[in-house]
Amino acid sequence: MNNINGIEIPRSHPRLKSLLIRDRLITGFNNGLVAHQGLMAHGRGEAFDYLLGEKSMKHTKSAIKTASAILFLAKLPVISVNGNVAALCPKEIVRLSHIINAKIEVNLFYNTKKRKKAIADSLKKCGAKDILGIETKSRKHIENLDSMRRVVDENGIYKADVVLVPLEDGDRCIKLKQLGKTIITFDLNPFSRTSQTADITIIDNIVRGITELINTSQKMSNKNDKYLRKIVNAFDNKKNIAMSVLQINNNLIRNIINYE
Ligand code: ATP
Ligand code: MG
Repeated sequence: MNNINGIEIPRSHPRLKSLLIRDRLITGFNNGLVAHQGLMAHGRGEAFDYLLGEKSMKHTKSAIKTASAILFLAKLPVISVNGNVAALCPKEIVRLSHIINAKIEVNLFYNTKKRKKAIADSLKKCGAKDILGIETKSRKHIENLDSMRRVVDENGIYKADVVLVPLEDGDRCIKLKQLGKTIITFDLNPFSRTSQTADITIIDNIVRGITELINTSQKMSNKNDKYLRKIVNAFDNKKNIAMSVLQINNNLIRNIINYE
């Protein structure tokens, strides 16, 4: 049995995993990490997860392997964290940052000082030492970006050559790309502007995909640059996204046949 808000959910419940993930978000919301709108953004993700079959796909593994290679090749990799990411997988984000030697920066669309601090504190509780995006001294603005996501840290996203932007907003993804940065994202929606713009689009629920990225990075940590570059050169992001769309298509066709 699993307990959510005092209500027992049987282990056999077919939506158990999904309900437990929702509960992480609600806890994050109650602790001041997640914005109201973050709950809805999660709903959009869930809908696509349903269509994708709620499991990691084979071809996603090659996106993850390539992401890992790019992160190891980077001079200054940064992981951008928002409220949903902090609520869903804070320990994993910190663990990944240690393995790939990346900085962590808090960057919010619905930006408040209070929420930024709550997110930074929760990441510190998980073992992060330095969290960027909080200090006002090193604050910089990304030009021609209207949302509050334009506020970045001079020593983080501003200077980074590679940015991991999970559950990202399309506006900023496009701007970061225009600034010449290599962008990696986790996004369940293969049609979002973020998915379509990023260099590496990992179409998976971050809750599942982040563990795969950690495990892959552990295995890749002793590989040389030549080996890593070969992986990057062989990867085709558009093709990889198309395979996810095909997966949705196949799942839809299968269900139509099942109900006939
Ligand atoms: P875009 O701005 O890129 O066109 P959007 O406006 O639809 O996309 P946002 O609300 O800006 O989306 O960002 C949230 C994105 O994160 C959505 O594409 C959603 O599908 C995705 N998402 C939500 N929850 C998860 C999750 N747990 N794992 C992976 N992706 C998720
Ligand atoms: Mg958006």
